[in-house]
Amino acid sequence: MSKMILHVCCASCALPVISYLLETEKYVNNDLTLLFYNPNIYPEEEDQKRLSDVEKISKIFDLKLSVISWDHESWKEYLKKELDMPLEEYQENGLRCQACFRYRLKEVYDFALKNGFDSWATTLSVNRFKDVRYINDFCFKISKNIKYRTFDLDPNVANNLSLKMSKTYDIYCQKYCGCEYSMNNSFLKKKLV
Ligand code: SF4
Repeated sequence: MSKMILHVCCASCALPVISYLLETEKYVNNDLTLLFYNPNIYPEEEDQKRLSDVEKISKIFDLKLSVISWDHESWKEYLKKELDMPLEEYQENGLRCQACFRYRLKEVYDFALKNGFDSWATTLSVNRFKDVRYINDFCFKISKNIKYRTFDLDPNVANNLSLKMSKTYDIYCQKYCGCEYSMNNSFLKKKLV
């Protein structure tokens, strides 16, 4: 089995993917590492809250966990350079979110490469509220040296399982995507079509 690193946006989204990898693909715990890297999250207390539950599930499933520290200002600077309008003017799942994905996922890929992983993946790729096609296209495009992989998991099924497992393990389910611009946007109501 190859060594894989799984970028985790939050514990709730990670649960169905971890369950799939361990039960369906028979991944051995030692071959799977979680990576928490989400500088998009605002404020820092929210980042710590989500991280704390990721730490909790890494212990429950006996998985290694790596963390890249929270640097919201650098994330914001990148987005401002990439985009023309003030960041708050973009709709969720539009150009701001695409830039957000590029910033985070390129860093995850670089981390995976630098640390000797054979493959990498992200829980964002099975998120029914996200532009999964954009995410996967970008990740496949940058993965020149190690394999980017997706899962045979339907996003709707993953979402239901995520809710169920979060209840079982008492995991926090946030009400907004992550950044300050998404706080007033109940993304749970906005399924991407
Ligand atoms: S809404 Fe979510 S994906 Fe979009 S920019 Fe904010 S944190 Fe990133």
